[in-house]
Amino acid sequence: MSTERLPENWREVWAQRQRLAQLIKQVSYFNVPFMRKAYGTHEHDLPEQCNDCGVQLGELHVIGCANERCPICARQFIVCGHREATA
Ligand SMILES: [Zn+2]
Ligand SMILES: [Zn+2]
Repeated sequence: MSTERLPENWREVWAQRQRLAQLIKQVSYFNVPFMRKAYGTHEHDLPEQCNDCGVQLGELHVIGCANERCPICARQFIVCGHREATA
């Protein structure tokens, strides 16, 4: 989670972002669709909630979460570079 100034109702705002994230099932890279990886899909012994975006095991991360894995290269999605080309 970033440290930018948060509105008073940030919990509600964040819960809504978590819900919206569940609707974004895939990303496309040069028009090729890739299914996003849900939290805990390929890793074990993780806390019940993502320690960055707070979603539960089996849910999709909030967009921009530091723990989301890239569905194309399996590295960290926010830094691997594939995200810039996705829509
Ligand atoms: Zn997350
Ligand atoms: Zn990637």
